[in-house]
Amino acid sequence: MQIANNVVASIEYTLTDDQGNVIDSSVGGEPLAYLHGAGNIIPGLEDALEGKQVGDSLKVSVPPSEGYGEKDEALLQVVPRSMFRGVDQIEVGMQFHAQTDHGMQVITVAKVEGDNVTVDGNHPLAGQNLNFDVKVLEVRAATAEELEHGHVHGAGGHHH
Ligand code: ZN
Repeated sequence: MQIANNVVASIEYTLTDDQGNVIDSSVGGEPLAYLHGAGNIIPGLEDALEGKQVGDSLKVSVPPSEGYGEKDEALLQVVPRSMFRGVDQIEVGMQFHAQTDHGMQVITVAKVEGDNVTVDGNHPLAGQNLNFDVKVLEVRAATAEELEHGHVHGAGGHHH
């Protein structure tokens, strides 16, 4: 069976940046299972997996436009230190979940100057080329319930 819309694929992947640093990897852990065609994974990776089957390996380089987008300067914001109640030491690189106009988002501390903290609402991987090393482990038809929910249930997917 080939990967196509309404098919569940389980993949093993390693994600590196352009310098070769490993950003994320499923190797040695639970594979990533996703519903193809449902936007569960970034478009550049989903497109590259179309038509692949069990045992196939591929290397995919995904530009920001097909990944997490370009960095948006408008998402940088200066907030007072008092916003971070209960945090003793605020340091560059720290990440927090914050309620914003766009829902719950991860923000990253970009700069700390006295009482002013610059936070960055961009996805941590925005503006980066994403280099995936992928192996297809399993391909199966999605269940009716998975199609209805738009995501995978069971191993590697949602448990609910
Ligand atoms: Zn569900």
